[in-house]
Amino acid sequence: MFNFEPANYIENTPKDSEFFILFEQSILTFSNENFIRPISSDELTWSYIEEEERHFLGFLDKKPCFVILSKNSNCELENSMFVDFRSALGRMPDQLFDVIARSIQIINWSKDHKYCGSCGNKMDRHLLERAMECSICKGQLVYPRISPCVIALIYRESEFLLAHNKNFPPGFYSTLAGFIEPGESVENALKREVDEEVGIKIKNLEYFASQAWPFPSQLMIGFYAEYESGELKPDGVEIDDAQWFSAENMPTNVPPANISISGRLIENFLKK
Ligand SMILES: [Zn+2]
Repeated sequence: MFNFEPANYIENTPKDSEFFILFEQSILTFSNENFIRPISSDELTWSYIEEEERHFLGFLDKKPCFVILSKNSNCELENSMFVDFRSALGRMPDQLFDVIARSIQIINWSKDHKYCGSCGNKMDRHLLERAMECSICKGQLVYPRISPCVIALIYRESEFLLAHNKNFPPGFYSTLAGFIEPGESVENALKREVDEEVGIKIKNLEYFASQAWPFPSQLMIGFYAEYESGELKPDGVEIDDAQWFSAENMPTNVPPANISISGRLIENFLKK
């Protein structure tokens, strides 16, 4: 069982530290191990990883934990290999998902904020806070960006609504989701998205749970909502099909409950 406490500052790198290694959109794994895990200080030494940058993440089971961005995909550790984040999802222990999501988001944020958005000057990392700082625009701090998204399972008695996005594989259906617009409440964003994507009205919004989704920076805020009125009419842009399903009539494929809030929304509904 892993316990992760996020933190932003540590003075140095103690000997008992652990490291997640990223390169581009992939993470270091071992082909002879089922689950992704961080590597130790000794493994880091023997890996001969060429370090591009390093960020402190917090404490994983009380041990300082870091993410390292590698300059290339070379690693000398036996059986090591870099695996694309998304294909690695199924090999992430649930309790490590949060810290790995944090690794990916912090690295993506750091890569995208090398220069000041106001004056174009090179930014520096703030010493104590998780922020980038511009030395010309005094006090201009840029924190990691989190993009809130609302995601919902809509139900009508024992049936529930799932949609096929035009980028999904055939037969794969998922819950509706969308980004929250500036100035919008979560509830209004959900009502608007559902109306835009499938043309129906909803009511009785009920918060379920949330989950970081680091592709690249979403925070998924999960709800249940009850159908109110309207006929299903997929927008044809994002959504090319939407249907009412039930426990007896499931689509061929839905998101797995162990790694996605969409899957959990569905699984939890079916239990009721
Ligand atoms: Zn600036």
